[in-house]
Amino acid sequence: MPQKLVIIGAGMAPGRLLDHLIAADPQAYDVTLFNAEKRGTYNRLMLSPVLSGEKTYADIVTHDDAWYVKHGVTCRFEERVLSIDPMAKMVVGEKGSVAYDKLVIATGSTPFMIPIPGHDLPGVIAYRDLEDTEAMIALGRKPDARAVVIGGGVLGLEAAAGMAARGVNVTVVHNAGHIMNRQLDAPAGGLLRADLEARGIQVLCNAASTQIVAGIDGRVRALQLADGTELACDLLVMAVGIKPNVSVAKDAGLEVNKGVVVDDRMQTSNPNIFSLGECVEHKDALFGLVAPLYDQAEVLAKTLLGQSAQFVPKELTTKLKVTGCDLFSAGDFEDGDDRESIVFHDKIRRVYKRLVIKKNKLIGAVLYGETADGVWFYNHITAGTNVASLRDQLIFGPAFDADHTQLPQSAITSDIARAASIPMIQESLQ
Ligand SMILES: Cc1cc2nc3c(=O)[nH]c(=O)nc-3n(C[C@H](O)[C@H](O)[C@H](O)COP(=O)(O)OP(=O)(O)OC[C@H]3O[C@@H](n4cnc5c(N)ncnc54)[C@H](O)[C@@H]3O)c2cc1C
Repeated sequence: MPQKLVIIGAGMAPGRLLDHLIAADPQAYDVTLFNAEKRGTYNRLMLSPVLSGEKTYADIVTHDDAWYVKHGVTCRFEERVLSIDPMAKMVVGEKGSVAYDKLVIATGSTPFMIPIPGHDLPGVIAYRDLEDTEAMIALGRKPDARAVVIGGGVLGLEAAAGMAARGVNVTVVHNAGHIMNRQLDAPAGGLLRADLEARGIQVLCNAASTQIVAGIDGRVRALQLADGTELACDLLVMAVGIKPNVSVAKDAGLEVNKGVVVDDRMQTSNPNIFSLGECVEHKDALFGLVAPLYDQAEVLAKTLLGQSAQFVPKELTTKLKVTGCDLFSAGDFEDGDDRESIVFHDKIRRVYKRLVIKKNKLIGAVLYGETADGVWFYNHITAGTNVASLRDQLIFGPAFDADHTQLPQSAITSDIARAASIPMIQESLQ
């Protein structure tokens, strides 16, 4: 008799968990899957290509109705879980309760909305799901449409580029000195800004949003900045960050800090309740990219099947999914007395590369315009390769020394050892 497994949330993390579980032992669990969204798992990363018109929603569905039927998963979509009773081992949904033997909380994140006046007006949205994407696509059908995006990070820029591709007049408002300041240094941020401006996107840095103003129809009409500038808009997209969605776990009395606290096996403070995805906190760390969530899914599948496995977070990389803007960033690229930079800048070809080295080890890489060597640099960062003997040619990457004849053996070995992790990373960056 299979045990009853209830999963709250049908995002990408539990989607991958189900793939692993069903591949390993399709009979192990009788699964019930709740999702507040009215659909099952789709590739959320690919909402940006849907927005820009390069893909359709149908292209990015990973688990369709037929998949759930085939694998006997009971779907309770468009139904929010209201509470968990850990003593009775029951989950209470909007349409009724269900008992569990094992429970997985995968409630993901909610977008953070800056609480300035007007943040709750109609026409002010986040960028998180298909509905947000459809609202931006619909704007593109309106003549002379204008949008403001607050937040010049990855999501904000993907939203801006997608709307611009649909003919919307877009302004990005960013509070730091350059866009994508968490992933890029100032020169790379400047090159990206110029490429976006060439597409007609206006970028305002060091800009503080103070108020969102309504029109006579009660919808958003404009954003006001601290310097008095008023930016007229028909839609305002806030893309300023996410916070783990922990309310159900917290109300159930589980240990919660910023996220739902889990151990290396993805178990919460209750032995029958597990968690994974953006809602978790593991060793004080939160997660906002899909690669570690897929690792968590693999570990949790093994845990649920009684096998031993341990989640070990890896170094992450960043890529922007805006066609034509090629950038790559990994590791730590802050300036400091204990580190040095090797910089290559070809202004004509608009190629910029900066490698940061500390104690003969590569600790960070920022690439703009030419990113083919990104994974190779990433491998050296994560392997902790001693790059002293490579210094002269390191910035040129393997393209300069294609057969790696001048690389020390340890670097070659680490490339091979790391090869298994590369497809996962590339997948997360599609
Ligand atoms: C536009 C966009 C682009 C992105 N691009 C990248 C990228 O290029 N690379 C990358 O690595 N990451 C990217 N990300 C982040 C990545 O998509 C997320 O890390 C990942 O999807 C999170 O998966 P998850 O399963 O933890 O949570 P989510 O995908 O947030 O899923 C959680 C689900 O749980 C449901 N839920 C919440 N509470 C309840 C409840 N009480 N009852 C029932 N259901 C509930 C929600 O409705 C939601 O469907 C992007 C995200 C967005 C929005």
